[in-house]
Amino acid sequence: MNLPLIIRAEEHSEKIAIATTDGSFTYRDLLHTSSQIATNLLQNSEDLQEERVAFLIAPGFEYVATQWGIWRAGGMAVPLCVSHPRPELEYVITNSGASIIVAHPNFEGILRSLAEEYNLRFILTSETLPSNIARLPEVDITRRALILYTSGTTGKPKGVVTTHQNIQAQVTSLITAWEWTSNDFPGETRRERILHILPLHHIHGIINVLTCALWAGAECHILSKFDAETVWRRICDGDLTLFMAVPTIYVKLITAWENASRERQKTMSEGCGKMRLMVSGSAALPVQVLEKWQSISGHFLLERYGMTEIGMALSNPLHGERLAGYVGKPLPEVEVRLVNENGELVPVGTPGEIQVKGPGVFLEYWQNPEATAKAFQDGWFCTGDTAVVENGKYRILGRMSVDIIKTGGYKVSALEIEEVLRSHPDIQECAVVGVADIEWGERVCAALVLQGLQPLTLESFRSWAKERLAVYKVPTQILIVEELPRNAMGKVTKPTVVELFC
Ligand code: AMP
Repeated sequence: MNLPLIIRAEEHSEKIAIATTDGSFTYRDLLHTSSQIATNLLQNSEDLQEERVAFLIAPGFEYVATQWGIWRAGGMAVPLCVSHPRPELEYVITNSGASIIVAHPNFEGILRSLAEEYNLRFILTSETLPSNIARLPEVDITRRALILYTSGTTGKPKGVVTTHQNIQAQVTSLITAWEWTSNDFPGETRRERILHILPLHHIHGIINVLTCALWAGAECHILSKFDAETVWRRICDGDLTLFMAVPTIYVKLITAWENASRERQKTMSEGCGKMRLMVSGSAALPVQVLEKWQSISGHFLLERYGMTEIGMALSNPLHGERLAGYVGKPLPEVEVRLVNENGELVPVGTPGEIQVKGPGVFLEYWQNPEATAKAFQDGWFCTGDTAVVENGKYRILGRMSVDIIKTGGYKVSALEIEEVLRSHPDIQECAVVGVADIEWGERVCAALVLQGLQPLTLESFRSWAKERLAVYKVPTQILIVEELPRNAMGKVTKPTVVELFC
């Protein structure tokens, strides 16, 4: 049996699946190219048997065809982040135990040497693909499909493993709730069409946008990277039905709208009016952003809550009242409960930790049974986020750990950043915190105790850090202090560090 995603794609064969600046590609194109890629990956084996294939390709048709090719060959897809420096790529490649790296030629410089160092097979997307398609393996949906790396409260990022079945559950839940369709809209020439502007190493872009679109038989129009002007141009074309983004992107779109002429603003707003749904998630949506966006676009953004480990869990309704500052109710097939520190259910109106159960919840942290076991309580996944239920709707209150920072929709670990900063020759001690920011949700800031008398400029500090950390993890503000604030136990008091930056 083929994977359901593939069987469904066969039904939509002549419809456009992906559109990019390179052209439009039908579901048939996607099936054909992904079968060629699968053949190439298999070489002479019959099934990759969950071998990890790490791939670094900018968002576009080649990315999608490669992801599907890995799945069709029976492998596990390990998407790499296009903006990661070498140490971050090396960590993901080695931690996942990838045996193959697939790269766009733009990334050959950084990845070929890594492949040689670790003796991995290296494939460039520019290589000619085989014309004879091999017999592809039957891949059961219970098999592992994807590893996404996500930051936690301890050390380095963990690999979140989802099976094809988990992905299917995450996707179908959203398709039902938000009524994705493959059909043309009655009385119109357009189909269900989403503009994809999100990174493709993160759940939001991979599941909520790309895989939902392809599962539904819709069109996914992909920009290789986010650019506010280009997004507005596409919105003004008036042919999109859906848009999904993180709050930071909405803030950037608001700024671009405010900088446009009156006439242009009118066209921009009319373009938004043609869409049927605009969604925000991956970080708290400030009410003032929601209100400003409503005045510009006429859309009351649908805010939802989710996480790499669970897919989406809570959502405001597609139809019916959406409440600013709330994330609605559990999505189809998702069970949610709130518990206190003793693991007991809290009464309505009392804050508690969000715990989640359902077929979309991930299988395991990659090769980390201890962390996996610790993340569950009686079969419920412990999110580390707190919420309260008011009038039947969930309101997110924040994260239980100050060491988890959400910046621009990315989840980053203060501890991981601190570990890297401590390797700077001039830094003796440091404390990294998230400081509230209307555009980024939180800004990554670092209080530093220096050793020696060498001065440290933000510029030289950031360029040093960018070689070691993903750019969104690099502190945007530093403060040189004599010593870090500590409690009686000698533990750094992070709330006091935050105050230093306010
Ligand atoms: P990630 O796994 O990168 O998608 O990050 C998941 C985390 O993002 C959650 O655990 C929350 O802390 C945060 N998050 C996601 N959606 C929302 C939301 N609508 N409001 C507040 N926080 C959110």
